[in-house]
Amino acid sequence: MKHLFALDYLLRIAYSRVKGNVKWRDFCHPEVAEQIRKKEISRMVKFFYRHKLIVFLAVIGLALFQSASWANHSWGKYHWARTINPFTLKTGDNVNSSWDSYLNTTVSDWTASSVLNLSKVSGQGGSSCTPTLGRVEVCNGSYGNNGWLGIASIWTAGGRNRNHIVQGTVKLNDTYFNTAQYNTPAWRNLVSCQEVGHTLGLDHQDENFNNANLGTCMDYTNNPASNQHPNQHDYDQLVTIYTHLDSTTTVSAGIRSKMPPAMNDIDFSSRATWGKMVWKSPDGHVALYVLDFGNGNKVITRVIWANPTFEVPEAPHRGAK
Ligand SMILES: [Zn+2]
Ligand SMILES: [Zn+2]
Repeated sequence: MKHLFALDYLLRIAYSRVKGNVKWRDFCHPEVAEQIRKKEISRMVKFFYRHKLIVFLAVIGLALFQSASWANHSWGKYHWARTINPFTLKTGDNVNSSWDSYLNTTVSDWTASSVLNLSKVSGQGGSSCTPTLGRVEVCNGSYGNNGWLGIASIWTAGGRNRNHIVQGTVKLNDTYFNTAQYNTPAWRNLVSCQEVGHTLGLDHQDENFNNANLGTCMDYTNNPASNQHPNQHDYDQLVTIYTHLDSTTTVSAGIRSKMPPAMNDIDFSSRATWGKMVWKSPDGHVALYVLDFGNGNKVITRVIWANPTFEVPEAPHRGAK
């Protein structure tokens, strides 16, 4: 709706400029703007009637822009830098036997993408799931009754790696996966697939728990039976994210970074360490946190809550997405 108001305002400015009777600075003054609005509304209607083709095109353009941004479900601009496609991303296996088969499924699910391959390697995360430059560490553990089933975190470094993922971690919370409700192959597949998908740069396709499943692990649901794996839209989105090539790479072991050491030393089990909540879904079940170390050095954390009735605690400062 606010886009309509913005469009309305822009059209009004365009109209007044074309008619040449209003100065730019007048728009800065709310009272003047209000007078203009009242006085000129009928003349505007006539003007737009005469120029209805332009208005029509503007509305169509806005609608296309809107649907393009809905269809896009990449996670901001974040992606791994690489010089070739398909690229291979090492996936550190820090999970125990209760997760091995699910991690294998996740690795092969995402490797089906035409632009990337995941290769499972032995984990370097240790008990606290410490990140390693150039790879994703996947870990499980009883992280406690803290509300989350799984979390995915990505790190960006400053300079030319401002939008480049330099490392990632996924944590799967056995405190919930050991309960009857979540100890099912469908829940394990959905969460493992979704959290690893986040570390590739993908966002959710849908965040409503109660609507029909889209057939992708990137879709929130109360019944994961048909949402255990990626769908074609996820693979298409990965192609969109990774079509361009970079002049440098963040997926090799040899990369260096000037990230502050503290960035690698965070215990993500508790919400208190995730940084500022920058976005929360309208129903409060999905949230995104950013821990900002300045100069493009960030840790971004996505959370999937165990219980849809769990309310995300309000952050002290809430911004836009
Ligand atoms: Zn790039
Ligand atoms: Zn998620």
